[in-house]
Amino acid sequence: MQEKALTLSAWIDSASSITIVSHARPDGDAAGSCAAAAAYLRECRGKDAAIVLPDALPESLAFVMDGQDCIIASESRSAVLERLAATDLLFCLDFNTMSRAEGIGEELAACSARKVLVDHHEAPAIQEFDLCFSSTQLSSACELLYNLLMEMPDIQHDAAKLPHSAACALMTGMTTDTNNFANSVFPGTLRMASELLAAGVDRDAIIDRIYFSERPNRLAAQGEFLSSHLNILPCGAAIAVLTSDFFERHALKEGETEGFVNMPLAVKEVRLSILAREEPGRFRVSLRSKRGVSARSLASSQFHGGGHEQASGGKILIPEDIACPSAAKEYLERVAARFMQENNTVD
Ligand code: 5GP
Ligand code: MN
Repeated sequence: MQEKALTLSAWIDSASSITIVSHARPDGDAAGSCAAAAAYLRECRGKDAAIVLPDALPESLAFVMDGQDCIIASESRSAVLERLAATDLLFCLDFNTMSRAEGIGEELAACSARKVLVDHHEAPAIQEFDLCFSSTQLSSACELLYNLLMEMPDIQHDAAKLPHSAACALMTGMTTDTNNFANSVFPGTLRMASELLAAGVDRDAIIDRIYFSERPNRLAAQGEFLSSHLNILPCGAAIAVLTSDFFERHALKEGETEGFVNMPLAVKEVRLSILAREEPGRFRVSLRSKRGVSARSLASSQFHGGGHEQASGGKILIPEDIACPSAAKEYLERVAARFMQENNTVD
């Protein structure tokens, strides 16, 4: 890490315009890693650093940016293209291949800037990047970025030297990606949390923003999800389909069903949870599993997606996979039962 980190530090020194990007429908880890990188590059290195996201952040995550501007590709494509044309160093955070930036994946791949990957997914497309920091043995892109920042010559393993907003953003992304320390926690994850706490991060305030700031709508939607849409199958899979009328009825905003897919895993017998949410022309699918069941392999083999071993995502395409939205439930039942029969190994 150290030698590569020094190479990166030299690239930062010589860059005049740095752009930081993350994946489509950014989550807490994407937002946190981007915000932390931008704050560090601006405040500690005096750089012109801009954040570009394929889609806007859900309102619930806006606090992570702490007032920093982002260029949102789905709202202002020309501003993104202009920025990329002027960029000489591109930070790619929390995704393993440019196509995960969906609407701007091709533009990122074609960008002439040096490209640096900081990511924790399996199988990074290393040929797309000039320098790769990639490991699955940590909680989050935020943890990897934290380790990298600790190696920077101006930080020298002193978290107190990070801008306060960067420290808070790193804590936030690590917290959401570990589901508040419920999964993907490694010794380094706790070390990072401890060092950030010692550096003055107010973790209670972050937890309040992430987990205790919901609207009543979400709670009502959660009740209906659990009582009317969740099906626990004899094979140990729980499936749920939420159609667009569900989102309309509860007036849900982007991100307000976050976490629903984790809930069925509370049941002892449930080893796989699949949630399909209707969007125009497709369903977006979230998968979560317990050890011994690979959510990732199901996402990549059946849902045009991927992700982590125990948390992954993808989509059901209409009409390629199913003829119409009403066929989604039966499709999930069939796919889940077959997958559990073929792949379920108890460890
Ligand atoms: P979520 O269910 O929270 O939307 O996604 C969980 C994880 O699955 C993400 O952190 C990401 O790693 C992965 N993921 C979600 N959607 C996709 C997708 O469309 N393609 C790929 N390759 N991975 C995805
Ligand atoms: Mn992540």
